[in-house]
Amino acid sequence: MQYRTDKYGNKISALGFGCMRFPRKGGRIDMQETEREILHAIDSGINYFDTAYIYPGSEAALGEILQKHDLRDKVNIATKLPHYLIRSRDALDKYFDEHLERLRTDHVDYYLMHMMNDIGTWEKLRAMGIVEWLEQKKATGAIRQIGFSYHGNSDMFCKVVDAYPWDFAQIQYNYMDEHSQAGRKGLNYAHSKGLAVIIMEPLRGGKLVSNLPTEAQKLFAATPYTPAQWGLRWLWDQPEVTCVLSGMNSMEMLNDNINTACTTEAGRLTTEDREMLNTVLESIRSKMKVGCTGCGYCTPCPKGVDIPGVFAAYNTLGTEGVIRAKRDYLMNTAMRKTNSAASNCIGCGKCEAHCPQSIPIRAELKNAAHELEGPAYAVARRFIKWLRIY
Ligand code: SF4
Ligand code: SF4
Repeated sequence: MQYRTDKYGNKISALGFGCMRFPRKGGRIDMQETEREILHAIDSGINYFDTAYIYPGSEAALGEILQKHDLRDKVNIATKLPHYLIRSRDALDKYFDEHLERLRTDHVDYYLMHMMNDIGTWEKLRAMGIVEWLEQKKATGAIRQIGFSYHGNSDMFCKVVDAYPWDFAQIQYNYMDEHSQAGRKGLNYAHSKGLAVIIMEPLRGGKLVSNLPTEAQKLFAATPYTPAQWGLRWLWDQPEVTCVLSGMNSMEMLNDNINTACTTEAGRLTTEDREMLNTVLESIRSKMKVGCTGCGYCTPCPKGVDIPGVFAAYNTLGTEGVIRAKRDYLMNTAMRKTNSAASNCIGCGKCEAHCPQSIPIRAELKNAAHELEGPAYAVARRFIKWLRIY
């Protein structure tokens, strides 16, 4: 295994174990198989395990296996505060105690604010006293490092990075999202501020592996690497990336990723490699609805429309199907303090003058709203508002 270092020089395995979806049997976590995989991962040098309060059964399964084999001190546990469920400072202690009980530990190595998608959410938590609470937990050693996971755009990401002296951040990043979500801009910014950067969705939930356009499949087939290996190699080529999480729910996938992690170093991709990946990307993009590159030059919109975020989800409709697109759209527009949906557009046209791709933004926003803001979106939006979770 190869290792990279966090803000304090601790060694983190380049490959991290994403614990969102452990293998299941009959609807329940298959503890035997999960145990086999976790033990093999640790034997192979993986020392970073990423879970969350809201991943069903995940914290408890991980805690049980680590305790059974006395392995807690061999690994780092990252878990996430479900801040969207929290209404008062007292609840912070309640959820934190529950993490520790499930994980059978007395501390969390890397503690994240889950889905900190905009600055307003952080300000709300700050007003609740979370900074003092976090500092106190860190002082007692119950939390070793403090970070956040993120799904918004790069400008907002930089604002969140600047809002607190974080130790690390977790972003969705892969060769297709190089210029969407936090993107390369966000990665470099966080790195320049000394944060370790953990990568989630390195293969875009498997979409950079399966159902690729024929042209992309042919290009990959002519190389010694599989599409998954290319996706991971692209990430580890960048020294700013600290750890890449993969939700490995088969021994085959685990071994394949371990092998790639052991044999990939930063700065090794050639010009030809990049050109090949660009051609792959073009073939994927040819299925997209809008030629938006996510550059963000059109922002900010006076009505708060997250134009690149809307188009990223709209494009997912063409490349990955309606379920993923609607999920992304909800996350990009409703799961934040100020709704940033396409339908908020008043058609002022201010954005279009700045678009280097000459996209008819107003017309495309209308199309996006038409396809992604059906009755289910309206209900989900009202429900999120009613819960007051952002
Ligand atoms: S046209 Fe719509 S999206 Fe563009 S700046 Fe005006 S309100 Fe915002
Ligand atoms: S300026 Fe154009 S290409 Fe850039 S994010 Fe806005 S719509 Fe997309």
